[in-house]
Amino acid sequence: MEVKKLICVECPMGCNVEVVMEGSDIKNVTGFSCVRGKNYATAEVVNPLRVITTTIKTLDGRIVPVKTDMPVPKKDMAALIEKIKAVKVDGQIKVGQILYKDLCIGANLIATKNC
Ligand code: SF4
Repeated sequence: MEVKKLICVECPMGCNVEVVMEGSDIKNVTGFSCVRGKNYATAEVVNPLRVITTTIKTLDGRIVPVKTDMPVPKKDMAALIEKIKAVKVDGQIKVGQILYKDLCIGANLIATKNC
């Protein structure tokens, strides 16, 4: 048995959650104060997800802050960053505008600032 210790980041309470694993099977989850914490810890040990936040450059050299509109698998982040670096955009860009549709598992790349 292996115990993975996590701090839940779903709210500012920061509960200390422990997940007991046997191989890849989850045997027990303790320390959470609500179901969000249990779900977070379970996902974190099985398939951790993260929102990607970065910038891209327009064809005329402006810097556009961007992010994925939902979390994507952490294990794929390096490949997705490379994919994002290759995105070509131009013209007026509005906050929330989709700059790359379905980057990964249905997550779009969106602008986070007017540019
Ligand atoms: S378990 Fe619930 S209360 Fe605790 S940090 Fe996570 S979301 Fe907040």
